[in-house]
Amino acid sequence: MGYQRGAKMAVRNVSCCLFFLIMCVFVYGQDIFVEAENFSVAGKGWKRAEGPVARSASGLAVLQGSSGAFDSTASDTVKIPEKGKWKIWVRYSQVPSVRGQFRIAVISGGKEIADKEFDLNPTRTRAADSRLGMDYVWDFLEADLPAGEITLKVYKTGSRAVHPYSRCLDCFLLTTNQKLVPDHTHYGPQIYLRVTIGDGHEKPFYIHIFADYYRSPWYANYSLTPDGLDAGVRPTAGRRFFNNGEKTDWISIAKLMYFDTGENLLLSPRYTYQEIAPRLKAKFEFATEPDEKKIFKTIERDAEPGGIHIIIPPDYASPEGAGKLSSDIEIAEATGKLADSMKWPSIGKKPSLFPFFASGYFGEGGLVPHDRKVVQRELKTLSYFGFCNREKTHTGGLWFMKNDCYCQPDIEKMKTVAKTQVETFRESGASFDSIAYCMLMDEPGGQPLSHIANCSACAEKFRQWVKQLNKTPADLMVNNWNEVRPVDETRRDTDPALYYFSEKFRTRALGDFMLVQKNILKDAWGTEFPTSPNFSDGATYVANFYAQGVDYFELLEQGGMNALWGENWGNGALTRESTTYNVELMRSAAIKNNQLLGHYLLVYAGRLAWDIKTIAVSQAARDVKIFTSFYYGPSWAG
Ligand SMILES: [Zn+2]
Repeated sequence: MGYQRGAKMAVRNVSCCLFFLIMCVFVYGQDIFVEAENFSVAGKGWKRAEGPVARSASGLAVLQGSSGAFDSTASDTVKIPEKGKWKIWVRYSQVPSVRGQFRIAVISGGKEIADKEFDLNPTRTRAADSRLGMDYVWDFLEADLPAGEITLKVYKTGSRAVHPYSRCLDCFLLTTNQKLVPDHTHYGPQIYLRVTIGDGHEKPFYIHIFADYYRSPWYANYSLTPDGLDAGVRPTAGRRFFNNGEKTDWISIAKLMYFDTGENLLLSPRYTYQEIAPRLKAKFEFATEPDEKKIFKTIERDAEPGGIHIIIPPDYASPEGAGKLSSDIEIAEATGKLADSMKWPSIGKKPSLFPFFASGYFGEGGLVPHDRKVVQRELKTLSYFGFCNREKTHTGGLWFMKNDCYCQPDIEKMKTVAKTQVETFRESGASFDSIAYCMLMDEPGGQPLSHIANCSACAEKFRQWVKQLNKTPADLMVNNWNEVRPVDETRRDTDPALYYFSEKFRTRALGDFMLVQKNILKDAWGTEFPTSPNFSDGATYVANFYAQGVDYFELLEQGGMNALWGENWGNGALTRESTTYNVELMRSAAIKNNQLLGHYLLVYAGRLAWDIKTIAVSQAARDVKIFTSFYYGPSWAG
């Protein structure tokens, strides 16, 4: 839901405090690790930076040289234990479209003995951190270094001032190991895990971890075995698997940490990536050091099915943060205890004419089969509220087209998927009567003019549609049917009539595409449900249907569709008055053919239960007949 899709993700408001002392230089075997933000700066062109730019940096800080004096330098002295061929790795920011060059010089005895310029070419075309549009990447220079002190000195090269996310240095790693793959997570704050496996597992398994990060890059996969933590959906070849009764050594799991947001881990026991084991009985001990005395949290689970969530806060190393490291069952039971002890209202009854759903994840239908104890506890808690989730359900749409064109629906695929939908539903044993609505898609827009003006299928449909409207070429201010063609914004002033109808056609193309789906669904199910996509309330946000190309009147007044769905996301127009006005527009468009209205209630922007109640009453008064309330919970679900 929401005009801004990214904002849909539940974002935890977390403090980014670090409670550990980060030392300037770590020596690890022969390897030397140096934080760039601790370099001494000459002039006013380099500075320590924190915040978003450093959210993926070690120690959450970087040396930023994006602007300021161009002749400014930064340097640090490093003691080299022995003479040899060294690789000097540097981790720096990379915005794929911007070059933030810098030069690193290695100085010994007052003389430059090696140097290299960095960030001359991007190594990726798109940043993995799509929100910021930047990542940190590693590159190196090689040098024959003498034993004793050397100086690493950084100069700016290339453009004088660059994007603030460019020319930022995170850290250096000096090594004589030519094969080393640099990893800064070995040198920052640490977190260790020790796993003791219980009995009753039928064969050896590994633990797959899906890490949900609350921000871009949004997730990553890891595989845990007694031999360690590997990135990826399956362990590195040759790893041993867990056996009954086995206790691991301390395993560093720092590489899966985001130190700014923390993470929500979904663990599942697996024989292979495709084959999930039915049960997970294990004890997880978390420690800040590989030491019995440093254990700050122990989680013991006997989960069947074996899917469980563990939430690690960014400040786990502080006493307060350690208390926040928790698992789904702890959270579910704490909430459940509150719900059990509450005196619930006994007046009224569960809605039957007005299906009212709560949208949340209760452990069913997710990525992995979830611990039944958690699911049952959450459903018991939910049952107090009177939602219809257990009695009613909804189905999905068939949003398949060719060439991104609403005028080219993929009928074959639609029919195949509809058939599968019906078969799967029938196997579940539920009654078709329990289906309250069919949601075709979330927030589609009209077909963009940039497409329509250049698509022969759209042009043909456009001409047919104009004829159906009983218009002539003269009505569209052109000479003949050949000139009746959709146009884009550039022709707004020269061909106003063509432009007007082209804009309207954006919705018409969408509406016809929806209708094709609705009719195929009707044939497949043998019955009809209220069917619509959910539309963004962009119409009120910009006070114009055509910002998003969705004109409710154009959609509904010709008949065919039987429902219309909206939401109260609101963005800059998030008063209840303006979101209600959007529903009023929908209701007006539905008056002629009496289409049913559905509505998503969204808990965000600091809205309280009281806000949502008043909004719901307001929309019910405007003929909304089905509600789904998005409260984005429970909190362990991410
Ligand atoms: Zn097209």
